[in-house]
Amino acid sequence: MRLRKKPGAPAKIAQYPQYIANMPEEWVGKWHERFNNNHPIHIEVGTGKGRFIIEMAKLHPEINYIGIELQESVIVAALDKLIEEQLPNIQLLHVNGGSLTQYFAKGEVDQVYLNFSDPWPKKRHEKRRLTYRSFLENYEEVLVPEGEIHFKTDNQGLFEYSLASFSQYGMILEQVWLNLHESDFEGNVMTEYEEKFSNRGHRIYRVVAKFPK
Ligand code: SAM
Repeated sequence: MRLRKKPGAPAKIAQYPQYIANMPEEWVGKWHERFNNNHPIHIEVGTGKGRFIIEMAKLHPEINYIGIELQESVIVAALDKLIEEQLPNIQLLHVNGGSLTQYFAKGEVDQVYLNFSDPWPKKRHEKRRLTYRSFLENYEEVLVPEGEIHFKTDNQGLFEYSLASFSQYGMILEQVWLNLHESDFEGNVMTEYEEKFSNRGHRIYRVVAKFPK
């Protein structure tokens, strides 16, 4: 997602520390304290403008959600939605999803969502893909034992790459959808990109992959 820098974004982010922690590394191992409950924590890496994670938080008040986004100009759009909704079970994190171990303790996260991650099709950019081995190492470290990644994309190349990456890592492919919107899968929550690409006729792929014990 390429957006111009938004001049007011840093000030706005600083203005809402209750939704985006100013010093996120201080919350390592304390996210349940921050949510003030012991509910499971689900994170989305590359949350974009936040439609998916905010909708999930509304549907599942018994789960705590954290939307992680690298780009300031994008996360501020998610923040705007959150300010309107005022949900107690969602937080945003303006950090690189490749450094999750700086922000979460071992086993602090119950589930990871990756939705419409940037495909980085060139081989020389492979290490930037959110399903590259080093990212999987990070997810495994912060997830509970046998934690799951729920991954959706319209990009066939990235999907095939990710299936191979999960499987080479020793993960179990729990379920695979080759055409999610034509399947009997119930309760799909659409992301911004999902709506855009499915409206253009793209097929949507989904996989749930589990780390080994
Ligand atoms: N998930 C959203 C959706 O489905 O509508 C946004 C998809 S967009 C193609 C991918 C997003 O991932 C971008 O907003 C990008 O800035 C973010 N992103 C890419 N690499 C990231 C990283 N290492 N850590 C956090 N966010 C990242």
